[in-house]
Amino acid sequence: MRDVRAVAAFAALLSVGQCAEAVTPVPRQPTNITYDNDYDNFYQEAFHALMARVRAAVPRAYQTVTRSWGLEYPGLTHPLTVQIKELSSDTLVRQKVAYVQAQGMGNDLRQVMVFDLGAYLQFPQENIDEIVTHEMGHVVLQDVESGPHTAPIPSWLNEGLAQSIDQEGKERLEKDVESIRRTGAPLVLCKLDEPVDEFSHGPFNTNSGCYPEFYLAVQRLKQLGGPRFIPDLMAGLREGRSLEEQLPSLVKMDWDDFQRDVRHYSEDVFNGRQAIP
Ligand SMILES: [Zn+2]
Repeated sequence: MRDVRAVAAFAALLSVGQCAEAVTPVPRQPTNITYDNDYDNFYQEAFHALMARVRAAVPRAYQTVTRSWGLEYPGLTHPLTVQIKELSSDTLVRQKVAYVQAQGMGNDLRQVMVFDLGAYLQFPQENIDEIVTHEMGHVVLQDVESGPHTAPIPSWLNEGLAQSIDQEGKERLEKDVESIRRTGAPLVLCKLDEPVDEFSHGPFNTNSGCYPEFYLAVQRLKQLGGPRFIPDLMAGLREGRSLEEQLPSLVKMDWDDFQRDVRHYSEDVFNGRQAIP
């Protein structure tokens, strides 16, 4: 899931991104993806404009995700439908830009990647590539981990991995570190197994909720576990070994030690004792 406020910060990068798009060859559409072109309302023009951008972003995002995670994965195994619709919103400012919904399990897995047309109308300059890449991270992870014995994937790990594919997590963290330094607000860190809720830490922390902590935890896992960490972890999950079970062999720490380690590491990053990863 992606939050509008976090995404809006990247709007400035859009013009740079568009230049890069013009010269980069476009990879082919991955298998098993369909685009839902049915849309019946007043905003036909915006619908088609957003759909064209999403459709162009999907193959690039797929390539970025699989390369970043070291996966040899030539296409999705299970169907993904890409949809654009106007999501209902309780507030004036749209909160959810996009999300992925999974239905069924194992061979019956079906995923839907949904984009909010309302959010797009409100923030047409958003970095669509980055949003699609984040959501594609969730799609690929679910697709890879759809076997009958797969161990559950904790939400913090899912969100941390999705932010670690490109610069999203780093950019958000830089903004939050700067904001905490500038305002002198006390640092309130989320626990990893807290619910994924951008509003859970309200005014104490930054606008990004627990996302920076989840990102830092994944960065820390990569530091401790080395370059093979992500593909090895994913293979272990597929075999039914939970993250907690795998931690001692992958990072030489148990779950309690790892949580303490991440807390110290996060404090060090926010206090400037460690570089922003
Ligand atoms: Zn997400």
